[in-house]
Amino acid sequence: MTYASVNPADGKLLKKFDEINDKEFEAKIATAQACYETWRHKTYAERAVIIGKAAEIMHKKCDEFARIMTLEMGKRIGEARGEVEFSSRILAYYAKNAEKFLAPVKLHPTHGEAHMESSPIGIVFGVEPWNFPYYQLARVAGPHLMAGNVLMVKHAGIVPQCGIAFEKLLIDAGAPVGLYTNLLISHDQSDRVVDDERIKGVALTGSVAAGKSIAARAGQNVKISSMELGGSDAFIVLEDADLEHTIKWAVWGRMYNTGQTCCAAKRFIVVEELADKFLEKFQAALKALKAGDPMDEKTTLGPLSSEPALLQLLEQVKQAIAHGAKLVMGGKRIDRPGSYMEPTILTDIKPENPAFRDEFFGPVALFFRVKDEDEAIALANDSDFGLGGSVFTKDVARGKRVATRVETGMMFINNIDWSDAELPFGGIKNSGYGRELGDMGIQEFVNKKLVRHAVMDAPA
Ligand code: NAP
Repeated sequence: MTYASVNPADGKLLKKFDEINDKEFEAKIATAQACYETWRHKTYAERAVIIGKAAEIMHKKCDEFARIMTLEMGKRIGEARGEVEFSSRILAYYAKNAEKFLAPVKLHPTHGEAHMESSPIGIVFGVEPWNFPYYQLARVAGPHLMAGNVLMVKHAGIVPQCGIAFEKLLIDAGAPVGLYTNLLISHDQSDRVVDDERIKGVALTGSVAAGKSIAARAGQNVKISSMELGGSDAFIVLEDADLEHTIKWAVWGRMYNTGQTCCAAKRFIVVEELADKFLEKFQAALKALKAGDPMDEKTTLGPLSSEPALLQLLEQVKQAIAHGAKLVMGGKRIDRPGSYMEPTILTDIKPENPAFRDEFFGPVALFFRVKDEDEAIALANDSDFGLGGSVFTKDVARGKRVATRVETGMMFINNIDWSDAELPFGGIKNSGYGRELGDMGIQEFVNKKLVRHAVMDAPA
C-alpha cells in the first residue's frame, strides 16, 4: 500500500508517498528510544516549553494547517480551522496541567505513610484515523509527551500530508529528534511495531476491526492499550423537548464533518408525540444543505473523505433498504465531480436488518419512533456500541435520569458531544476502552507506582 493524498472534492491525486522499509524503521525506533532516555528526565516545565510552543504555532498557522486537511479529506474549511484551534488548545492544556495531573497522590495506610507516583513508560505507538487528522494526534501528543513518553504514530493512509505536517510542527517547536515520529508503514509493519520490545503501549483510534486486530496483538505482547473505536450514538428526543433547539442539534449532530464522526448522532429515537413534526423539520433542514467546494466558506455540504468511503456508505444504504428499511430522503451520490452523497434518512429499521447494528459513517440518519422514555432507553441500549449519546428534554433532572440509564461512555443533555480538552472522552462495549482528554487521558500510559514507608517488624 502507498500513502496517497487525493482531493475528495474532485478526485484528483495530490501526492503519493512510499512506505518506509524495515531498515528505515529500525533507525527511527532507535532514535525514539534514545530520545526517551533523555526526555523522561526533563522537568514538566522543560517539556511544557516545547508542547506549549507547538500549540502556539498551530494557532498562528491555523489557515495553513486547515487547508492541508481540507485538501486531503474534504473537511469544510471553517470546520477545519475549528479543529486546528481545538488541537492547539489541547496541546496548551496539557502543557499547563500535566504536572498537576501527575503529581504524587498521598495514601493513608494503617501503618506508616504511602503515596502513588507516576512515571513515563517509554515509546507509545499511536494508530490514528483520518476523520480528525490533527485533533486525534493532539489527543495523544499533548498528554503522552507531557508525561515523559515519546510517540511513534501511524496515521491513516489518506492523510499523509497531515501526518507529516504534525511531525514538522513538533520539530519547529524545538522537539528533540525522535520525540514524535510519523510512520508511513503498512498494516503488517504495524504489527511488527506492536511486537517490538521497545514499544511499551499502543493507543488506537479507528474502526472496531482495526481495534480488535491491534488490541489482540498488544494483548499477546502483554502491552497496555487504549481503544477509541466506532459508535452509533442515540439521539433521544422526549415529548417535552424544545423542537427548534433540538432540530438544530440534530442537523449538526449528524452532518458535522459530513457525518464522519465517531460520536455523531446516528440513531434518532423520537417519542411518538413529536415524531412526525421532528421528521418533517429534520428533513427540511437537511434538504437545505448545498453541496460545494469545501474550501468555499459558503458550502454547507462537503464531500466524504474518499471515493471508497462513499461507495461503502451507498452500499450500506442499499443493503438496509434490501432488508426492509424505508428511504425517506436521499440515498444517492450527488451528480457532480468528487465523492458527495445526499443527506439521507432511513426509517423502519427492524432488529434483523444489518443496518440496525451497523455504524453509518457519513450523512445517513436512522430514524426510530418509540412509545415513551423507557422504550427510547431500551432501544438506545440495544446496540453493540457504547460511545456517547444525547437526550433532549426541557426537564434537565429528567435528562440526567435518562443519561444515567443509557449504557455509554458519555451522555449529553440538550446538546450533542461537544468535546472539550477538560472532558474525558471514550466508550464501552465495541466502542473500546480507556479515555483520552482531561485528567484521565494522561493517566493511560504512565506507571502508577506505590511507594510505602512504614516502621513495622517483619512477621515471624
Ligand atoms: P480504520 O480503517 O480502522 O483506520 C484507522 C487507523 O487504523 C488508520 O491509521 C488505519 O490505517 C489503521 N488500521 C486499520 N486497520 C489496521 C490494521 N489491521 N493494522 C494496523 N493499522 C490498521 O478506521 P477509519 O475508517 O480510518 O476511521 C473511522 C473509524 O474510526 C470509525 O469507526 C470511527 O467511529 C472511528 N473513530 C473513533 C473515534 C473515537 O474516539 N472513539 C474517533 C474517531 C474515529 P490505514 O488508513 O493505512 O488503513
